[in-house]
Amino acid sequence: MQLVALAGQGLRIDVNHKVSVLVIWTLLGHFSAAVLPGQATPVPETKPLFDLNSIGFIEGVDVPSAKPKLEEIVPTPEPQQTTPERVPCIIPNVTFMELKPISGAMREGQLDDLACGISDPVRIESVSTIKHKVEFSVPVTISCEFAKVVAVWLQEDVVPMAVDSLGTSVSVLQSGPGYQCRRRNNLPDGKLSEHALGNALDISHFKFGNGTIISVEDDWGKRTKESNFLDRIHASACKRFTTVLGPEADPNHKSHIHLDAGCHGQDCTYIICQ
Ligand SMILES: [Zn+2]
Repeated sequence: MQLVALAGQGLRIDVNHKVSVLVIWTLLGHFSAAVLPGQATPVPETKPLFDLNSIGFIEGVDVPSAKPKLEEIVPTPEPQQTTPERVPCIIPNVTFMELKPISGAMREGQLDDLACGISDPVRIESVSTIKHKVEFSVPVTISCEFAKVVAVWLQEDVVPMAVDSLGTSVSVLQSGPGYQCRRRNNLPDGKLSEHALGNALDISHFKFGNGTIISVEDDWGKRTKESNFLDRIHASACKRFTTVLGPEADPNHKSHIHLDAGCHGQDCTYIICQ
């Protein structure tokens, strides 16, 4: 497009450049006529010289810029936030359900500790072998990976040792809830507990098929078959978990055995067995 202005006449024409040539040519004729001697002063034009809408484009010369078709206007897709596909948790012979990822903990409507959480939590109800079933006194919420370790320990160590030591299997395991958003030993400034990551479990009692109950607090170190059972499962746990803390570890564990899969040492191979 081109803008042609005629000074002194107040005339402005905004047209296609080809049209403007035509306009200039017409105006020159008009203008030259206006300067002939002896003629009256020309009256300034006050309206457009052409009805611009009536001027057609000359095929092959004036090609109007095509209106983009609707289908050509493809909006740029927004970058989508993709959450990585969660790998299904598979734990043979365990009754459990997968839970939504847990992050932080709500206490009185406030997020308590952002460091807490489990990306792949499961809630376990029971662990079975071919002949026996061990139920948890309360459903335990832990990570899928930690649940696999707990399940294998119960299936391959605890149940056979119970049958061997007491002639019957463990039917109920009395434990804590597993996941707890808290610091170690409940100290407000302590290091984050493995419980806060779904990597730990506390066990306080074992109930057997014949009704016998073994208490970690009451039976530990008594030199009985019950305490012998506790010694055996404690020792076996040290081969499965990276942290095993029993009543001999410290007063905080006098009533239960703490098991976790936390990382100790630079390459996570150090084991705490107390
Ligand atoms: Zn614990």
